Amino acid sequence: MPSVSEDKGEDAGQRFLVDLMLMRLGRWLRLLGQDVAPPKGKSDAELLLQAKEECRTIITRDKGLFLAAPGTGASCLLIRSSKISDQLSEMAEAGVALRLDPRRCTLCNGRLEEMKTSGTKRWQCSTCKKLYWEGAHWKKMDSMLQAVRSLREKNALPSDSER
Ligand SMILES: [Zn+2]
Repeated sequence: MPSVSEDKGEDAGQRFLVDLMLMRLGRWLRLLGQDVAPPKGKSDAELLLQAKEECRTIITRDKGLFLAAPGTGASCLLIRSSKISDQLSEMAEAGVALRLDPRRCTLCNGRLEEMKTSGTKRWQCSTCKKLYWEGAHWKKMDSMLQAVRSLREKNALPSDSER
């Protein structure tokens, strides 16, 4: 068993904090291996404080919050779309890799531990004990990510006028 006392450094990327409007995106980001905390409070001030205390980047659709962040020393990412696939695309723009990477529990952000079983890969949340495995739901999420990735690649191609 690997022993990690410090809860930092072995995640896929930055540490994030989602506001209440983006909890769904937060669950998706956890599926991608990102450390995404739920908000402790509802107000902008509480979010900004939590971001600074826990060294997290706030993800929000609230422009007011986004504009207030620099003045308080908290980092903040503004999401423009209300559609989950476009929101994921915006996160890819910010450097998050769009592939399933089971490290974090989608419900509680607890760390996942791989279970030693034969056959299907399984993981269990070390905090709430929820089980994860590569089943039908997994494949559905994987194909959704593939769709977002191929759309991004298509959009990155030069326009037709160059042919
Ligand atoms: Zn959990």
